[in-house]
Amino acid sequence: MWRRRALLLLRSGTRAKGKMHDHLDHVTGLEKRELLAHLAGDCDPFRIMAIKKGPGTFECPNLIPSAFDKRIVGCICHPDTNHIEYMWLHRGEPKRCGCGYWFELCPIAPL
Ligand SMILES: [Zn+2]
Repeated sequence: MWRRRALLLLRSGTRAKGKMHDHLDHVTGLEKRELLAHLAGDCDPFRIMAIKKGPGTFECPNLIPSAFDKRIVGCICHPDTNHIEYMWLHRGEPKRCGCGYWFELCPIAPL
C-alpha cells in the first residue's frame, strides 16, 4: 500500500525528473518583487537609471522619483567634465544645484 502511494506522489509531483525548480519559485521578498517587475516589463524598478535633465527651473524642476522621504542625487553639471555634484533631496523641498538646475523629489509607490 505505501509503495503505491509513493509512486502516486512521484508521478503527481510538479518537478520533472532531472530538472530544477524555476528560480521564481525559490526567491522571496524584495528579490521576488524585483523579478516580477522585470517580467512585467519594468527594467528599472528601483529608479536608479540616469534621468535626462529637463528645463530645471524653479517652476518646472527635474522630478526625481523616490519611495522615501529623502534621496541622494548626482548632477552632472557640465557634460564635458567627469565631476558629479551630489546632494540630498528631501520631500517637499525643491533644491537648486550649483549649476542652476532645480530638482524636486517625486513620491512613487515602493516596490
Ligand atoms: Zn548641477
